[in-house]
Amino acid sequence: MSQIQQITQFQCAVCNEPIKFDPENPTTFESKTTHEKFFGMQLTTYRVAHEIGNERHVNTVVVDHKHLFRGHKDAFVEQIDKLEEEKRLWLVSQKPDALHTHPYLENVFIMDRIDSWVMEGLGSEKVRLLELARLLDKKVEEAERVYETLPEEMSFTIADQDLRIWINNSRVACVTAKGAAAITSIKILLKELTKNTHRDAIPDKRLLILGLHVISEYPKINPEILIRLASDDRLYSKIEFGFIPRIPSIVERVERKYPFAKEILMPLLSGTASVINLLEQGQIGKISQIFDMLDYVDRRGLLR
Ligand SMILES: [Zn+2]
Repeated sequence: MSQIQQITQFQCAVCNEPIKFDPENPTTFESKTTHEKFFGMQLTTYRVAHEIGNERHVNTVVVDHKHLFRGHKDAFVEQIDKLEEEKRLWLVSQKPDALHTHPYLENVFIMDRIDSWVMEGLGSEKVRLLELARLLDKKVEEAERVYETLPEEMSFTIADQDLRIWINNSRVACVTAKGAAAITSIKILLKELTKNTHRDAIPDKRLLILGLHVISEYPKINPEILIRLASDDRLYSKIEFGFIPRIPSIVERVERKYPFAKEILMPLLSGTASVINLLEQGQIGKISQIFDMLDYVDRRGLLR
C-alpha cells in the first residue's frame, strides 16, 4: 500500500517560490478536476494561487493519487492594464508569447466580458489588440440589446477588420482570417477552450498556441484531435514507469507499427517529458499519430 502524503508541494512557475496546498482541503486551492487513469496513475488537476506584492501568481498543476506533484499545466500573473476612462481590460501574460504570423489567420483572441481579461493567441503587429477587444465588447453589448437571446456566432466589422466571434456566456472568442480554409478548425478549438468548467479558470494559453500551430500545418484536421488537445489534462503529466529495463523491448514492439516510437516513448516512459512538452518541442506535426500510438500502448496494456 502506498503512503498518501497530506500536503502537496511544488514551485511557483512564475517566481519559483515553494507553494504548498492540501488536496483534501478545498480552502487551500481554487478548483479541482479529476481525470480518468493515465498509464496507471489517477491524476487530478488543481488550480492554486499565491500573492506577492501586488501580483497574483496562479498555477495549474497535475497531481497523482499519492498527492505527489506530477507537472505544471500552466501559470500566469494577474495584472491590470489601464485603458483611459473606458472599461479596464488586462492582458493575460501567461507564456508562451502570442504568434505574429499564421498562414490562414490574422488575429485570434479570447476575452471574458465579466472578468475583463484578454488572451492573445495570434496578433498582427499593426493591430492594437486591447482597443479591438474594447470596441468588440461594445458591439456585443449592442447585440445584447437587440436580440432576445444572443446568437452563439456573430460577425462584426471594426475599422476594416472582419471579425468572426463565438460567444459562451461571458467568454467571447474572436478571429480575423485570411480566408475560409481554417475557419472550421479554429472554431472547434476556440469553442473547446471557452467551455467554462470553472468560473475562475482562464483557458490555457499553451493550448491555444499549440492549437494554432496544428491548424497552420493541417487546416482541416480531424476535430477530435483538436478537442483532445484542448481538453485532456492527462497530457500534462510526466509519468512514472516502474520497469525501466522493459522500456527497450516495449519501444521495439511499438516501433514496428509507429516508426517514430523511440523519440516519443523514451522521454515519456523515463519521466523526462510530458506529451505536451513533446508537442511543444517540435513533434506537433505528428500529433494525430502520437495520440494514436498512446491509445495503442494503453489498449495493448504494454505498460502493465
Ligand atoms: Zn509565484
